[in-house]
Amino acid sequence: MAEHYDLVVIGGGSGGVATARRAAAYGKRVVLIERGRLGGTCVNVGCVPKKVMWHAAEFAEAARHAHDYGFPVASDRFDWTRLTENRRTYIERLNRIYAGNLDKADVDVVAGEARFVDERTVAAAGREFTGEHVLIATGGKARWPAIPGAALGTDSDGFFAWDTQPAKVAVVGSGYIACELAGVLNSLGSDVSLLLRKEHVLKDFDAMLGDTLIERMREAGIDVRMNRQARELHEDTDGRITVEFDDDTRIAGYDRLVWAIGRVPNTDTLGLAGIGLELAADGTIPVDEWQDTRVPGLHALGDVTGGPELTPVAIAAGRRMADRLFGGMPERRLDYHNIPTVVFSHPPIGTVGLSEADARTQYGDEAVTIYTSHYVALYHGVLSDKTPSDMKLVCVGPEEKVVGAHVIGDGADEMTQGFAVAVRMGATKHDFDDTVAIHPTSAEEFVTMT
Ligand SMILES: Cc1cc2nc3c(=O)[nH]c(=O)nc-3n(C[C@H](O)[C@H](O)[C@H](O)COP(=O)(O)OP(=O)(O)OC[C@H]3O[C@@H](n4cnc5c(N)ncnc54)[C@H](O)[C@@H]3O)c2cc1C
Repeated sequence: MAEHYDLVVIGGGSGGVATARRAAAYGKRVVLIERGRLGGTCVNVGCVPKKVMWHAAEFAEAARHAHDYGFPVASDRFDWTRLTENRRTYIERLNRIYAGNLDKADVDVVAGEARFVDERTVAAAGREFTGEHVLIATGGKARWPAIPGAALGTDSDGFFAWDTQPAKVAVVGSGYIACELAGVLNSLGSDVSLLLRKEHVLKDFDAMLGDTLIERMREAGIDVRMNRQARELHEDTDGRITVEFDDDTRIAGYDRLVWAIGRVPNTDTLGLAGIGLELAADGTIPVDEWQDTRVPGLHALGDVTGGPELTPVAIAAGRRMADRLFGGMPERRLDYHNIPTVVFSHPPIGTVGLSEADARTQYGDEAVTIYTSHYVALYHGVLSDKTPSDMKLVCVGPEEKVVGAHVIGDGADEMTQGFAVAVRMGATKHDFDDTVAIHPTSAEEFVTMT
């Protein structure tokens, strides 16, 4: 017989766990079904291990700079195994913390793959669960190209499983994951090619960010190849990979290749056709602004619903949905505007609000004023490496409301959160100018632009 709950959650990642815990905090009976490791993509094969690798890469960069600061540090004895083992231990600890938190919250956790029996009934691990509400928070997985030899490559999950560092590696893709992995591998000493289908990276962001990043990546030694559409991969007699491109060119000699060409939602094993839930053309689950699907009582959020594919977005959407359904807050929902994000590239990028192009489309050229700053952070003052930073403020109207703030450079990862608050609150350029600078920092450039 089916076990009945107030909420059945499918997926124990960022969104599912946050929703389950918030619903349980309202005293609701909640079951969460997870087929893999608790914490989902972010904890196991996403944000967390990626940030650990980024810190390692920053360490490598700092070691290269150390000499100019008076420390004769050698950076040529990097131990990939130690790093990845420490990373694994840390993530296992997080998995246990996630399990402990769900337990403390009185959420029942079921290990298994969930499949719909009907609109309110889900089967997993040989049991059946019915819910007043059912949430699909199954996330996504890497997209793979349908070309011969594709399986010679791997994806970001595979990258996190490597127990050795490749000497020569190709990263295929132009999104943030491709840029981040290329930067990390390059800083840690691999010979990296970034293979782009077109001539840009980070196409959804302000063009200044992607254009500048390509320059910085090239200066740092990444072999950025544009207009390269992979047609086929071959394994050579020495076990290395050759990539053949649509234009009949080829590049040989890669030890490994990473596909980072986008993500697809995890819906294939859910049995959604059986409950009449149609998917959007891109495979995502369509939801309205309340995270409701077209099937009453059935909700979806996070990566399975499409962008922005970010952990805090899935968490925020889930908590607000639980507040609305179970916490007596009928108007509570996530406002998807002005969501800030960081790309952990080298150098890092921080961005919130509209790109210049989007502001021009939305408000018209006349209404838009742009402020930019190009500077060398003080950190680089004593270094021979003078990598500069770049910032842009996108302002609109006579009051110059700041609708976009974008930065690529040292400290971008930590400075953007606070400026996101200002942009969300509707700050104007005058508010920025009227804020006393913190000196000497890079962030002060945002409040001193003329
Ligand atoms: C390499 C990489 C780096 C990233 N870096 C960042 C970052 O720096 N910052 C950031 O904000 N975001 C980052 N992300 C994105 C972030 O990880 C996702 O946006 C976030 O995890 C989405 O949460 P979710 O709950 O929608 O899905 P997920 O976290 O993917 O969780 C979905 C869960 O559902 C489970 N599941 C799927 N199908 C079933 C089923 N049928 N039955 C039971 N369980 C099922 C899966 O096993 C998974 O655990 C990164 C992603 C990747 C891949």
